[in-house]
Amino acid sequence: MTSNEIRKQFLDFFASKGHHIVPSAPIVVKDDPTLMFINSGMAPFKDYFLGNKPAPYKRIADTQKCLRVSGKHNDLEEVGYDTYHHTMFEMLGNWSFGDYFKKDALHWAWELLTEVYKLPKDRLYVSVFGGDPSENLERDMEAFELWKGILGSEERILFGSKKDNFWEMGDTGPCGPCSEIHIDLRSEEEVAKTPGKDLVNNDHPQVVEIWNNVFMEFNRLQDGSLVKLPAQHVDTGMGFERLCMAIEGKQSNYDTSVFQPLIQFISDAADIKYGENEKTDIATRVIADHIRTLSFAIADGQLPSNNKAGYVIRRILRRAVRYAFTFLNFKKPFFYSIVPTLADQMASVFPELKQQQSFVMRVIEEEEIAFLRTLENGLKRLDTLEEKFKQNGNVIDGKTAFELYDTFGFPLDLTALIAREKGLTVDEAGFNVEMEQQKNRSRNASVSEQSDWVIVNDEAETEFIGYDHETTETRMLRYRKVSTKGKTEYHIVLEKTPFYAESGGQVGDTGFLESGLSKVKVIDTRKENDLIIHVTTELPEDVTAPLYLKIDANRRKVIKKNHSATHLLHAALRNHLGEHVHQKGSLVNDKLLRFDFSHFTKVTDEQIHEIERMVNSKIRQNIALDEKRNVPIAEAKQHGAMALFGEKYGEFVRVITFDKEYSVELCGGTHVASTGEIGFFKIVSESSVAAGVRRIEAVTANAAEEFVHNQLAQLEEVKQLLGSPQTLSKTVEKVLEENSALKKQLEQFELKQVTVLKNVLAGEAQNINGINFIARNVELCSADYVKKLAFDLRQTVDNLFLVLAAEIDGKPQLTVMLSDNLVSEKGLNATQIVKELAKEIQGGGGGQPFYATAGGKNAAGLANVPAKAEAFVKGLN
Ligand code: ATP
Ligand code: MG
Repeated sequence: MTSNEIRKQFLDFFASKGHHIVPSAPIVVKDDPTLMFINSGMAPFKDYFLGNKPAPYKRIADTQKCLRVSGKHNDLEEVGYDTYHHTMFEMLGNWSFGDYFKKDALHWAWELLTEVYKLPKDRLYVSVFGGDPSENLERDMEAFELWKGILGSEERILFGSKKDNFWEMGDTGPCGPCSEIHIDLRSEEEVAKTPGKDLVNNDHPQVVEIWNNVFMEFNRLQDGSLVKLPAQHVDTGMGFERLCMAIEGKQSNYDTSVFQPLIQFISDAADIKYGENEKTDIATRVIADHIRTLSFAIADGQLPSNNKAGYVIRRILRRAVRYAFTFLNFKKPFFYSIVPTLADQMASVFPELKQQQSFVMRVIEEEEIAFLRTLENGLKRLDTLEEKFKQNGNVIDGKTAFELYDTFGFPLDLTALIAREKGLTVDEAGFNVEMEQQKNRSRNASVSEQSDWVIVNDEAETEFIGYDHETTETRMLRYRKVSTKGKTEYHIVLEKTPFYAESGGQVGDTGFLESGLSKVKVIDTRKENDLIIHVTTELPEDVTAPLYLKIDANRRKVIKKNHSATHLLHAALRNHLGEHVHQKGSLVNDKLLRFDFSHFTKVTDEQIHEIERMVNSKIRQNIALDEKRNVPIAEAKQHGAMALFGEKYGEFVRVITFDKEYSVELCGGTHVASTGEIGFFKIVSESSVAAGVRRIEAVTANAAEEFVHNQLAQLEEVKQLLGSPQTLSKTVEKVLEENSALKKQLEQFELKQVTVLKNVLAGEAQNINGINFIARNVELCSADYVKKLAFDLRQTVDNLFLVLAAEIDGKPQLTVMLSDNLVSEKGLNATQIVKELAKEIQGGGGGQPFYATAGGKNAAGLANVPAKAEAFVKGLN
């Protein structure tokens, strides 16, 4: 059975048990501040568990792309070293939302594993929750009895601790006791030596957990307490790669058909054999694992960057590059070249990779190039400090190790590795101190305290009415208090609201909540999963009283124009640049619109003009908005709707069309009733934001008018300065040409001046005690000319003692030049002399024994210099 068949059988099995099959949600989380990436199959369904929203189906099954690289579930450091944890893996899951519970879940799990997949029963073990007195949680005897019935005995049932058998998504949120299924994949001999039961949950690489059945019953609150959920649910998660290992009879996930194509590709490229050397094996596994994380994250819309989720992705890429660089000797970008192998292999399940293959490759390659450069700079820095380390007892101090980590992205183990090659060690304790200090700094920077929700009305859910209304009467459902750095905000959820919550790039609405005489300003509206959160700085006096809501309608009006213009722009870009253009990010507010999209070269001025022209002509056509709500996703796609990246799965979508031949998009934002309202569209900038991603910023309506007005006003000013010529550009060109011709003339004139001066000064030389003394204030416009004059005189006058004083750009300057024999025979030193003379101009300077210069503050003192120099020379004997 191939891995693709194994996945299909899972979905078919649960479809036959009445489950609705849904596609994986994107790995990148958009509207949940508690989660950076989807880390388990249940995360996209969180709202259904919490009762924030009804589930569209009571039974669902899917395979979900998961990332465990941050937060509560982080397996990054295991990856490569063990054989069954990945940063990115697929979690097969079946779900009951308030429908079936423990009995069906456990029976079906057993049926699928033993009858469909035919895994040996005597190699399977199950665990149930053993209770936790500190939280008043009892043993899960119901699950125990069920298993006893299924297995026919208690022999293979274990009671587990809270750590293993009480599943929690994060520090807060839905949770509950769980029952795991483990498999023993060891040889008969090994099994005879140690019973499998003793190895369950003991980090044995061949006795691993494959499936977790979670019985969601509780919600963990901020203060750590547990409350019962409104209904009981089933959430199961089976690691697809581990299941493949069991069915394919392998000892490692990396030996399965899921990973072998990648492993083969990497070992061929590195010219090694996988399985022969522990170090290169680890590196190969790290790379095979990380390329999946990188590719899926980028395809789902998370580009590497310097903060938050983008930084997590960047660090994973760097980890892979490091292993490739250090153990497999890849000194040039290579990681990106694995993408096509992965995309081909995943094409039938996750077509998004194939669709964006060249974009993903480009982004990864650019990141590799940048990091390899940093790596090299870091190595150079280590080289330059090598002497210092040697004097320091052959130790790289903690501060330097931390600097390498912080600025050059060298993790401690890489620094240690390089150190070893140089016969050095690293002060790890010192490194940890620095690290701890930095952590404290960033912890203090972001202390934010959030209370649990205070429920005001519980039975209702929020209805968004902002597509049709700007005001409404309603009541509060719940609120909570959030304090950040001494600033307090309230998050308020309402039964009905016209306020649009920030999403899909469109900013949240602002406005007012009124009740009786109290009027509370709404400063922002945000989304948390499907909750619409109104952010205020105070609460209405009476939270139970009826509320009147009103959005800032003028602000919304501008936002609408900018949002609809974004759709027109998107379509125009695809028309003029090509179908490879995909949205990579967007911002729509009441000032401007910003649109990031995949495209590999600068958009030329001519193309910008064409695009503007197209958008403006669509505006003038005054195309009416065609808005369809609740369109089945398949139907929307049939009509050619372009999915905005990172949209979470929903059975029904909203489709926004401006001319079905021109712009059809899935979009939740607010739009103008017809394009004429946008008035006018103007692009104000085009730039690059990341490898393969361009950014256009544009304005509409009044802002566009103002922009054009300002540009024209500037132009008018320039015209008038130039005497209002007929063709401005020709005149400017002429002025520039004249200017450069004048500059050249002036240069030649100055050069002549230097020659004239040289002859005059040479003739003025005074013989004092056999020295040809010249001291003079000269008028030259640059220090270069003074220098040239001094060197020219040195060529023509022997026994020369020359002092030149000049004022250049308003600053006094001195030059002293001596013939070599004066230096060697009379022991004169130009540096000392210039320093002495510079006192007159309140300055200082230096140079060589035969030639030195000085600058100063007091130009008036220049006049005294020649006499002072003369006195000095006369004083010599
Ligand atoms: P483990 O203890 O092995 O880390 P877990 O308890 O963290 O597993 P769950 O959170 O219960 O796992 O996830 C459900 C299933 O997903 C597990 O039974 C396992 O098969 C799979 N799984 C979990 N983490 C990973 C990972 N990092 N890589 C691959 N599969 C995983
Ligand atoms: Mg785990």
